[in-house]
Amino acid sequence: MSEQPRVEIYTKTQCPYCDKAKDLFDSKGIEYETYNVTGDDELFEEMVERADGRKTAPEVFIDDELIGGWDETSALEETGELDEKLGLVTDGGSETEHRKLIIAGTGIAGLTAAIYAGRGDNQPLVIEGDEPGGQLTLTTDVANYPGFPEGISGPELVNNMKEQAKQFGAELKNGIIESVDADQRPFRVELTNGDVYTTDALIAASGASARTLGIPGEDELMGYGLSTCATCDGAFFRDEDMLVVGGGDAAMEEATFLTKFADTVYIAHRREEFRAEQYWIDRVHEKVEDGEIEIMKNTEITEIHGSQEEGVDHVTLVENEQGHPTDRLDDPETNEFEFDVGAVFFAIGHTPNTDYLEGTGVTMDDEGYLRTQGGDGGGQTETDVPGIFGAGDVVDYHYQQAVTAAGMGSKAALDADEYLEDLERAESSAETEAAAADD
Ligand code: NDP
Repeated sequence: MSEQPRVEIYTKTQCPYCDKAKDLFDSKGIEYETYNVTGDDELFEEMVERADGRKTAPEVFIDDELIGGWDETSALEETGELDEKLGLVTDGGSETEHRKLIIAGTGIAGLTAAIYAGRGDNQPLVIEGDEPGGQLTLTTDVANYPGFPEGISGPELVNNMKEQAKQFGAELKNGIIESVDADQRPFRVELTNGDVYTTDALIAASGASARTLGIPGEDELMGYGLSTCATCDGAFFRDEDMLVVGGGDAAMEEATFLTKFADTVYIAHRREEFRAEQYWIDRVHEKVEDGEIEIMKNTEITEIHGSQEEGVDHVTLVENEQGHPTDRLDDPETNEFEFDVGAVFFAIGHTPNTDYLEGTGVTMDDEGYLRTQGGDGGGQTETDVPGIFGAGDVVDYHYQQAVTAAGMGSKAALDADEYLEDLERAESSAETEAAAADD
């Protein structure tokens, strides 16, 4: 076999994206060295220097070449280039493998579907997707998942579910689905790395990804002081002033978490009322009273200033007491001002990962959320295409809870099981009829 290149990963403690990077290399059977930079200033400086000034973990190197963080590593995985760099590419001859059931996504919905489908003897192939483990891997403490009175960390809950799914015969595979051809039966499922499968049924549980704003400075500074994951990157900006953008539960949770590291955490929300539940608002107000958080209502961010070498220096904010100030830039009451912060965290919701289902006939709304049958009785997770089911954040823009995603995942697996049984029955009666006609 060819010699394995040297893989090095700079990590830190409590770093979900570091775990994702390690899981990715583990799944490929690739050995790697890890350097934990938490509390080790020298190692941190070394990482920053080798990573061209980036201050986020993980930072991955293959044979001394900077690959980057999780986004860059998974982007290479998506195109198959990571396997090339790792010497894992075999020449040609890739055959189309048939599976009874493919599940897209290894968040809570996908993994619960995998547990049920495994137990139902449907031997599911579970494609991990862009963000293995889903959104919960970015949460430090899950306090409301039933059965864990002391709470459980998001990554631990996800890993437990992965183990449980594997025990029941589910196969987990790293990869991202590029397209699904529903004009043919079985469906043809193509991965971004070129692998092709056919499958009798598909459960779309591919979740939703963090939204960004598309403002100046965003692309340049993402990973250099701008982040969509406070639990991943907060510790890198110790003693800085930090800005959290958003007014939902995620923004409140992240702001509360960041008080561990920040000098002061500022929350910029575009209107007067928070969308977050009262529990989180109360926790934030406790921190406001302690002087650790300051709230800026009716305020939006329009630009992030800084450099990849020095990180974020300051941001441009606009404020108008009527709310949604970016819609009122010409209003003389709109106040634009520069604001010094060392780090910015977006917590402005998510966009469903459903591009790969375009052209299949599955109905989606304007934002890309899948439409399923819903209602009472069986078949609630059916989409408009028989054999394709939807579960979790690809469907649910409202509840978006781990426990509701788990519930939908189990329903999708049960619906798929019924569909597969019907299919088998129809096929075997067609065979019997054909045999009778031959006689
Ligand atoms: P939400 O959609 O609930 O909130 C997004 C926030 O971002 C809103 O306040 C929204 O403002 C704001 N926003 C959206 N787009 C923009 C924009 N372009 N510019 C400025 N602000 C913007 O998303 P979350 O990620 O917070 O939560 C998603 C789901 O996950 C929810 O169901 C939540 O309950 C759950 N969750 C639960 C947690 C927990 O309990 N531990 C933690 C995190 C999430 P506006 O309000 O004006 O629309």
